Amino acid sequence: TAESYDYDIVVIGAGPGGYETAIKAAQVGKKTCIVEATYFGGTCLNVGCIPTKVMIHTADLVSEIKESPAYAVTGIDASAVTVDMKKLQQRKKTVVNTLTGGVQALLRANGVTIENGKGSFVDNHTVTVGNKQITAENIIIATGSSVFMPPFIALEGENNILTSNEALDMDELPGTIAVIGGGVIGIEFAYLLSKLGPKVVVLELMDHILPMVDPEISGLAQKQMEKDGVEFNLGAKVKSVKDNHVYYELNGEELDVAADAILMAVGRIPNTEGLNAEGIGIEFNKRAIAVNEVMQTNISNIYAIGDVNGKVMLAHTASHEGMVAVAHICGDHADMNYDQIPSCIYINPEISSIGLTEAKAKEQYDNVKVGRFPMMANGKSLIEGTTNGMMKVILEGETGEILGVHIYASHATDMIGEVSVAMSSELTADEMIHAIHPHPTVNEALGETFMSAWLGKAINS
Ligand code: FAD
Repeated sequence: TAESYDYDIVVIGAGPGGYETAIKAAQVGKKTCIVEATYFGGTCLNVGCIPTKVMIHTADLVSEIKESPAYAVTGIDASAVTVDMKKLQQRKKTVVNTLTGGVQALLRANGVTIENGKGSFVDNHTVTVGNKQITAENIIIATGSSVFMPPFIALEGENNILTSNEALDMDELPGTIAVIGGGVIGIEFAYLLSKLGPKVVVLELMDHILPMVDPEISGLAQKQMEKDGVEFNLGAKVKSVKDNHVYYELNGEELDVAADAILMAVGRIPNTEGLNAEGIGIEFNKRAIAVNEVMQTNISNIYAIGDVNGKVMLAHTASHEGMVAVAHICGDHADMNYDQIPSCIYINPEISSIGLTEAKAKEQYDNVKVGRFPMMANGKSLIEGTTNGMMKVILEGETGEILGVHIYASHATDMIGEVSVAMSSELTADEMIHAIHPHPTVNEALGETFMSAWLGKAINS
């Protein structure tokens, strides 16, 4: 019976998946314990979302002062603008410490018991933490992921290779940096570093960057970054790194690029080492823990949420999956709709995207309507000097169902939430057009983009 266990729910790992899940579980009346080995807030708060965005915010300020037309006309001497990396590191630490301290306080305030140490399974109801054993009716694995060092890239000689962890800690910047990988992490670092000083060269295997974003939008962003001095080598197959030279194959040619530092940004792998998940018979899908649509593993009282289940490695995915798992444990149901997860890329202007790209929509639907709106035609973008962007809306042509929205504009990351609400509430283009968007905002362009897609014309373009 449930009474014979120490807890109703034990959560292993206190990243954004684990800590939010533990709080939710406690709030719905479950006796809950959370086990954390290293740092509260996980990758996200300590070496991921938060510290990158602290540094990117500074890069945005520098870029705005140096490049924005709004500053140029006011006569500010932008040549005097430099960044003190030691002070930036200090600010990063302050923000991170404030948030991670807040996580522990929230857990305690909600009555969640905290166990510090590495959790390891003894059986499907028992976990050890150090030499302590704790038992629970249900266990939620939320152990996250770590940087992946690709075995197919041979390392020889003396190299200054960085992962995102070290790149976040630099208090001196290299002259040139090669970024291997053009996904979100690679592109955010390429943007950040290029604004702070170093010459950046990106090497990406695919023929476009940022695979989840419509290529029309990511192409515009790439063009802007190229204008700002970032070099892109797309279709580049990196084979080895030797004495700070990256050797790659491009269009059948063997090429190399020399760099003072090399950032490996080719992905992350689930954390299961020392967990003894295999030992108690939990099934894997490659290196990730396999789960069903309610986050249950093959052992029915054990769930896995967040990066460790290898589905979509984003903080808001991890926490939502946790809500789905807790609902299931409580005998309720919550949906996890993987077609409706927003993705955000923090460069300037920002990118956000949700749902299908135009090409994917056309593969899946016979009748697709697409609308575009140039940020050039939006007053707030003109005020802010970010007119190079664009919004793109992809609809099912008969019903006006929202299939995908892709935005390259300032405040893009804050605007995609509106589309997320609309998609999860099954709103259609008519309703998006009917809703009143405030003026002057970048957001009002979204209403216009829906007009362009659904009615064939917007008002202001
Ligand atoms: P994690 O955050 O990895 O947390 C897992 C926790 O479990 C860790 O604290 C770990 O110490 C602990 N743990 C592991 N094993 C054990 C064990 N056996 N016992 C006890 N504890 C254990 N996502 C976004 O949505 N937006 C962003 O802007 C963004 N930016 C990113 C930037 C970078 C540079 C990186 C690397 C990632 C970024 N991500 C971003 C991804 C995001 O950080 C992850 O998707 C998110 O942290 C996953 O949450 P999680 O709870 O599954 O795991």
